[in-house]
Amino acid sequence: MHHQLIIIGAGASGLMAAVTARDLGIDTAILESNGRIGKKIGMTGDGRCNITNDSTVTGADDEAAALLRKYYGSQAEFPLPVLKQFGIRQTIDTFNVLGLPLTRLKEGLLYPMSLQAASVLDIFELALEERNVSVYLNNKVLDVTVSTEHPRFKITCRTETEEQVVYTSEYLFLCTGGLTGQNAGTDGSGYALAQRMGHTLVKPVPAIVQLQVQYPHLKALSGIKLQGRAHILVNGEVVRSETGEIHFAEYGLSGPPILQLGRTAAVHLARGDSVTVSVDLMPSRTQEEVKQFLEMNWGTFAHRSVAESFTGFLHKKLIPVLLKEAKIDPNLLCQDFSWKTKGIFNKILKRWDFKVTDTRSFENAQATAGGIATKELVADTLESKLVPGLYLAGEVMDVDGDFGGYNLQWAWSSGYVAAMALGKRIFR
Ligand SMILES: Cc1cc2nc3c(=O)[nH]c(=O)nc-3n(C[C@H](O)[C@H](O)[C@H](O)COP(=O)(O)OP(=O)(O)OC[C@H]3O[C@@H](n4cnc5c(N)ncnc54)[C@H](O)[C@@H]3O)c2cc1C
Repeated sequence: MHHQLIIIGAGASGLMAAVTARDLGIDTAILESNGRIGKKIGMTGDGRCNITNDSTVTGADDEAAALLRKYYGSQAEFPLPVLKQFGIRQTIDTFNVLGLPLTRLKEGLLYPMSLQAASVLDIFELALEERNVSVYLNNKVLDVTVSTEHPRFKITCRTETEEQVVYTSEYLFLCTGGLTGQNAGTDGSGYALAQRMGHTLVKPVPAIVQLQVQYPHLKALSGIKLQGRAHILVNGEVVRSETGEIHFAEYGLSGPPILQLGRTAAVHLARGDSVTVSVDLMPSRTQEEVKQFLEMNWGTFAHRSVAESFTGFLHKKLIPVLLKEAKIDPNLLCQDFSWKTKGIFNKILKRWDFKVTDTRSFENAQATAGGIATKELVADTLESKLVPGLYLAGEVMDVDGDFGGYNLQWAWSSGYVAAMALGKRIFR
């Protein structure tokens, strides 16, 4: 079977690329290892699919620059030309045109109005059908060979019945994702395909991921959720901080601010740095205000035990652990507190340190940091500098975004831009 364009991967970037390419009049086909398109999309946003995030949309000229700050990779500026061509507004408009209006739940997080990730798949299924895009499901791409003759690409697949089928195309999009959600088909095989075509892999590590910490009382803390601020310290220096609901678990820490910090921890742990996460239990008060608050509390309730004195402003399960941490008898009365003991509490409420031993695995992560090196791609077209006619889109390349819709946004933006660039090349 021959098509002008073959897209490997019917994930977020591949689907956006297919619809865009077909609208430009390009004969487009998708090869997908799963029996259904967009299996991973169905798992996103707790089954609701956080499609994008409009909190950086200001109407100012530097809107794309603000969005760029949500992305990471070896080449910090690389996503900018793509985000300039297709940002948040274009995403909202495109989904409206496809028949999927979006709704905002909180802090700029946009979801399909149905609040069902399945509707994103359904809409793409309709869009592909309406445009006569050829979709070959249960086709796992095993190998790609590149020729200087026509057809340029020869793609070997394994089908459901284990037979090998060969497809050919003039242009090839690699939209195979990263290493997260492996039961959704993203097993890293796209990296191997790109490497065999001469590309370099920047070592992938989990991003948007929970932290495993070393702490003797984790079991006692497990299940606690609190509002706090978390700082990541690398070799003793704070490199990033995030505020929100922090969750304690038997393995360590989770919750939105921790997931946001996961990438920084993973990258530095891979380099052999010492990584600590420090939790501020009273982020809205300064150290001095915490001191005054505790003094007043202990003065007013001098007759209470130290354990009782924390009732009402600290989670109940947290109190015995903090007392153990400070090595204090819970029955000690506030009136008998030494200055030293008071100092320990003042500090621990603002800076409670946990040594990070690892992040959780790709299985638990929501994004992959690292991937195919972006220096080998043309930034405003996403075409390979090494293999003419090969384009990359989505998580397969060394670009990852923050928690809150930014990874799907990259998939939509890069899928669209690659398809538009190909259209310009074919029809110029
Ligand atoms: C649990 C979870 C929740 C998430 N929630 C959100 C969220 O709410 N918002 C957000 O912005 N991001 C979220 N993400 C991240 C987001 O899903 C990804 O960044 C995004 O899907 C990447 O798009 P992609 O097109 O690059 O790859 P994918 O969407 O992963 O698609 C890649 C496709 O390629 C196929 N494929 C791979 N190799 C081959 C091969 N050799 N042959 C044929 N087909 C192949 C795969 O089967 C897959 O269908 C979440 C991720 C996970 C794991």
